Amino acid sequence: MYKLSGVTKNYAKGREKVAALRGVDLVVEDAEWLAIQGPTGHGKSTLLQILGGLDRPSAGIVDFDGRDLAQLREAEVTRVRATSVGFVFQTFNLIPTLSAQENVEAALVPLHVSATARRERAAIALDSVGLGDRLRHVPGELSGGQQQRVAIARALVKEPKVLLADEPTGNLDEDTRDEIIGLLEVMWRERGLTMVVVTHDSTIARRAQRIGVMKNGRLNFKQPAQAQPAQVQPAQAQSSGLQPPDLPAADRPPAADGPPAGSVLAD
Ligand code: ADP
Ligand code: MG
Repeated sequence: MYKLSGVTKNYAKGREKVAALRGVDLVVEDAEWLAIQGPTGHGKSTLLQILGGLDRPSAGIVDFDGRDLAQLREAEVTRVRATSVGFVFQTFNLIPTLSAQENVEAALVPLHVSATARRERAAIALDSVGLGDRLRHVPGELSGGQQQRVAIARALVKEPKVLLADEPTGNLDEDTRDEIIGLLEVMWRERGLTMVVVTHDSTIARRAQRIGVMKNGRLNFKQPAQAQPAQVQPAQAQSSGLQPPDLPAADRPPAADGPPAGSVLAD
């Protein structure tokens, strides 16, 4: 799905230059679920925005299904974003004056879907996140967890290839966090999505197939416990969809008898 090489991003902050990304190489396979952890201010959101075509790198290649997002014209990037990428944010980013139904429909407007089809698809999407009975509620009449469900429906109603989530449970209590991550997991598995989730929360990261850690604008990998061969037999892995995809050598996690998975993370 993605092949990033040498991706850097510099921001100008007054006269100072902030190096948000300092050479990120990353392969994300089709239908993979990747979690990205790391301290605040170390480039996680910047990376996610570049993956989603919301921002461009200062240098490097962002290959998305064979096209370099860094080089595409703005109109083409907008098209890729509208058709292929769903976003979910920590603060939900719903439009407060629109109903749940209208918020979800809004994602289909750039795709020139007819009004009737928009209504239908939005209602189905909201139903699929358990909000079939909340279509006419505005965000202020919904709980945080329900608002994030609306945002997930909005991200998925266009049937994107990729779902990018930036701290999707950062504003939620623990029980709601578990509900939302459970929902994302179901969506990922049922729809064959490629999913990249930025999170502070190790409980969430551990459910992904692979965990990357951003530090000082660089990305390293550790292997989640559940994906280790000793704990997940191939047959089980097949049926639960947990088997790691066939990764290229550069991105392959260390073998079970290699160095401890966390070793790259030592401060
Ligand atoms: P994280 O998501 O890991 O907290 P970010 O990707 O948001 O980190 O930010 C990485 C660095 O880039 C930080 O030092 C931040 O201040 C800086 N940064 C992010 N966005 C901008 C921007 N639009 N303008 C200037 N600096 C920015
Ligand atoms: Mg961030």
